[in-house]
Amino acid sequence: MELLFLLLPIAAAYGWFYGRNSLRQEELKGKANVAKNLSSGLNFLLTDQEDKAIEQLLQLLDIEAASIDTYLALANLFRRKGDWDKAIHIHEKLHQLKLPKPQAQTIQLELARDYFSAGLFDRAEKLLRGLVDAELLREAVLKQLFSIFIATHDWHKAADFIQHVDKTESRSLRIGLANLRCEDTKNPLDVLSLRMLSQQYPQAIRPKIELARKLHQEQHDEDAAVAFKAVLSQKPQWAADILPQLRTCQLPEQEWYQLLSNLVHKQKNITATIYLADWLTDTGSSQAAEQLLLEKLQQQPNIRLFQRLLQIRQINQPSQREALQGVEQLIQAYLDTKILYSCRNCGFKTRQAYWLCPSCKQWETVEPISGIDGR
Ligand SMILES: [Zn+2]
Repeated sequence: MELLFLLLPIAAAYGWFYGRNSLRQEELKGKANVAKNLSSGLNFLLTDQEDKAIEQLLQLLDIEAASIDTYLALANLFRRKGDWDKAIHIHEKLHQLKLPKPQAQTIQLELARDYFSAGLFDRAEKLLRGLVDAELLREAVLKQLFSIFIATHDWHKAADFIQHVDKTESRSLRIGLANLRCEDTKNPLDVLSLRMLSQQYPQAIRPKIELARKLHQEQHDEDAAVAFKAVLSQKPQWAADILPQLRTCQLPEQEWYQLLSNLVHKQKNITATIYLADWLTDTGSSQAAEQLLLEKLQQQPNIRLFQRLLQIRQINQPSQREALQGVEQLIQAYLDTKILYSCRNCGFKTRQAYWLCPSCKQWETVEPISGIDGR
């Protein structure tokens, strides 16, 4: 009997062990079910029965909240393939789950991106407006909202987000906001607003160019010249578009010469070199103009400089005029087919200037090209 009492702790330990084991059995059974659903879901997926697969996989959601990242990846895959309905289906289901705030917000952003891709802009905008105060997502949310305003031409709505943009560090958002405000032709910006916008978003070049052009239009030549020069000091590559207008601002000759020399020697700008050669020709030193072009051509081969050299040589050596004219016409025909601008983000090429790249939808990335055909 005494020995039996000694066995009691062993019996208790066995009972505990057995109970624990059966719990584990149930857990294992549950996991086996999940694995079964998961594998049949994947099987549907692999055999191109995607709708069935999604249903099967979504049934697991309530059980396996830990695998949400997998679902997000799957939904993003569908979106990339252009299967927006399926991506929306998954994201909407995930959005209904009770999840920690950061995860729920990420899903809300993804769902908004699906709606955007599917052209459901109102729904996307509504979800995104509810997310602008989420600090970690703010930049992505604002970029997506701006994409909606571009797609719907609701330029004026960008002004609602000035303070939110200020809270981010993003350069591209600031450039985007400045451009969206310039784009709003229903409420065109006057000189004062353009001046403020240029100061508020110094990264953006467009408010500065539009300010200069507006001043020029309103015949405030002196102020326009200052504004055009500010553009040139920030983006000398725009000289080809700016110099023709700046030339009509009645700049004193010495200042014009200084400005061109600076662009020619420090920035190696082609258009400025042509203007400087013309200035030398106009002031009676066409030999010096020829010399300048020859010198620059040795440093950087460029077809436009070569063309101007031929034109000036026709003046200097009238006997060669006929032969040179033929070559020059060929060069002009060649240049007429060449692109003038290209996007530094996606490489889109065009003869027309765009503030918004038609290909990658980035602001101010389409710039005048440089190189042998450059201006
Ligand atoms: Zn582009």
